[in-house]
Amino acid sequence: MPKLSDRVQTFTDSVIRRMTRISDAHGAINLSQGFPDFDPPRPMLDTLARVAYEGPHQYPITFGAENFRQALARKQGRALGRTIDPETEIVVTCGGTEAMMCAMMTICNPGDKVMVFSPFYENYSADAILSGAQPIFIPLVPPTFDFDINLIEDGFRQGAKAIIVCNPSNPCGKVFTREELEAIGKLALKYDAFVVTDEVYEHMVYAPNTHTCMASLPGMYNNTITCNSLSKTYSITGWRLGYLVGPAEVIENAKKVHDFLTVGAASPLQEAATVGLNFPQSYYDELLVTYTEKRKYFLDGLDKIGLKHNVPQGTYFVMLDISDFLELPQFKGWTDMEFCEWMIINIGVAAVPGSSFFREEVNHLIRLHFAREKSTLDEALARLAKMGALLK
Ligand code: GLN
Repeated sequence: MPKLSDRVQTFTDSVIRRMTRISDAHGAINLSQGFPDFDPPRPMLDTLARVAYEGPHQYPITFGAENFRQALARKQGRALGRTIDPETEIVVTCGGTEAMMCAMMTICNPGDKVMVFSPFYENYSADAILSGAQPIFIPLVPPTFDFDINLIEDGFRQGAKAIIVCNPSNPCGKVFTREELEAIGKLALKYDAFVVTDEVYEHMVYAPNTHTCMASLPGMYNNTITCNSLSKTYSITGWRLGYLVGPAEVIENAKKVHDFLTVGAASPLQEAATVGLNFPQSYYDELLVTYTEKRKYFLDGLDKIGLKHNVPQGTYFVMLDISDFLELPQFKGWTDMEFCEWMIINIGVAAVPGSSFFREEVNHLIRLHFAREKSTLDEALARLAKMGALLK
């Protein structure tokens, strides 16, 4: 067979999505890939049913259906405290995944350096490779996931074109403070670089933490590309609706990348999702109450079992510390991947091995999520209790 590109030899498939397939094959409770097991809001589903007969069913405008972009501009305008032009400052993409890829391809030349925090959402390193960029990893050091701003300045000194900031951060649940974002933003301006943000968990930020958009900080709008998605906020991960917001000159070029990658996101789904974008603030308040309760319920459950974990400030992920298990004779020398496979088969709960998020050698953390109905969390906790019993 003729040789394939070098590009595809340098990364593997997504471990997150692989864990879902293994979990499904064994009928485990899937707490690996983050998506809810409850339905999207009823008004969106009712609209989708109507759209089935009334359309649209043909191509949307490549950079997004007009009413969808208008609704998005209003919502995003409120978040950023400025007026967003739906014609020139937004591109609608197939999920946050395409938004990030599109941002990277818009700003990077082959060989450009891009800073990525570690642990990171695994797409970013593949995005960097696909766009020809070289990642420079900046450690977020467990258990607090703090970072050293001097390392970021070093990265910019080495000529980094951009820094990717996932806020709230997958997988560690860190919510960057305003001060941290200001410090990063100041350096981006000083070295004339971009900040590319991924804010898909913006509505899952637990008190007393608060979400600050990088693009809303004074002077940052022109250097920031905000990537986001409707997946988490409206429980529609399968609809694949995401978007980029940024200054017109960047977006004009991102539109070209997006057009030739995918032409457009599904038009019937944009029509139905517009209803969600127009929800009042109370929708987001209720969503946060729901996730705050789930977080407490799940973390309390883990505490009762005696499983060590971090306390996420945002997102619906929690990192479990499995060091004590790896000390037991039956797990001696195991990788976190082997442990996760064992968990799926023997405990019936799927997690993501932490090594797929860390650049550093980290083998003692695994990621679970709690975007599940209470009854599912109950069953997952009952199963995890059997695992906890091994430590007694
Ligand atoms: N962000 C989700 C996670 O980390 C998954 C997103 C995806 O698979 N596209 O689990």
